[in-house]
Amino acid sequence: MSAVFNNATLSAVIGHGKSYSETLQSVMLHQPQLNRMEQYWAAWYSYMDNDVLATGLMFFVLHEFMYFFRCLPWAIIDQIPFFRRYKLQPTKIPSAKEQWYCLKSVLLSHFLVEAIPIWTFHPMCQKLGISVSVPFPTLKTMALQISLFFILEDTWHYWAHRLFHYGIFYKYIHKQHHRYAAPFGLAAEYAHPVETLSLGFGTVGMPILYVLYTGNLHLFTLCLWITLRLFQAVDSHSGYDFPWSLNKFLPFWAGAEHHDLHHHYFIGNYASSFRWWDYSLDTEAGPEAKAEREERMKRKAEEKAKKAN
Ligand SMILES: [Zn+2]
Ligand SMILES: [Zn+2]
Repeated sequence: MSAVFNNATLSAVIGHGKSYSETLQSVMLHQPQLNRMEQYWAAWYSYMDNDVLATGLMFFVLHEFMYFFRCLPWAIIDQIPFFRRYKLQPTKIPSAKEQWYCLKSVLLSHFLVEAIPIWTFHPMCQKLGISVSVPFPTLKTMALQISLFFILEDTWHYWAHRLFHYGIFYKYIHKQHHRYAAPFGLAAEYAHPVETLSLGFGTVGMPILYVLYTGNLHLFTLCLWITLRLFQAVDSHSGYDFPWSLNKFLPFWAGAEHHDLHHHYFIGNYASSFRWWDYSLDTEAGPEAKAEREERMKRKAEEKAKKAN
């Protein structure tokens, strides 16, 4: 029996084994107070009547759909000359062949790396106390948790990514991701499996640590978080910076401009979502940041010399 309803009688009344739309009708009839999203969610778990498979399949489909759905507009924009003016490296438009190669490689690694989590994800959620039941938490709770995950993931990403730029880590693992000096959306997940797992820890591991500490997390919040994190990763690899890009309104948001420089210069700008780590630890990439850094060093040296006199 599914854990989507905390009430066995209700689960029995709603039933399963019919078609998905029949199950949905039944949920709507017996649980009219739920919002539409909660009804779809409850119908899915009731219809599947196997929470392990319901969660595993849902996560797999969510990842594939959201990733490629978000990559598609960028692949189309690449074909439209009008948008060239917003391209960060306008002379480097990825060829169809390059994009096709990247797509095949990402798909293959998704199927290889994610076949196991389909079966293990739900049992892990149960052990950790991640809830799948309806109703969902309030919007405020979800927003606060997701904001925290963004901050924690960015911190993990900064340090792990910086480490990946050292010697053997770069040579044997991270170099694969740097195949594209001018990235495009699909390249976001083009990486060595070791990199996918270790940088992915920021996305999946941080919520796990959170729920271990607080005991309070819903699987739907996790779905939203992973979707937003995917969008952030794809967008930061898009290669386009528009006047309406998020970093124009939130100056601490990294965006494509930040990560494109990382791919271009292979050094600096290690964080994923925000600019504060690179700013405060002086690891910003690009000629402008380098000039500013040198200027700062010069000023410091001059002040030191003045003091010494
Ligand atoms: Zn890198
Ligand atoms: Zn990248």
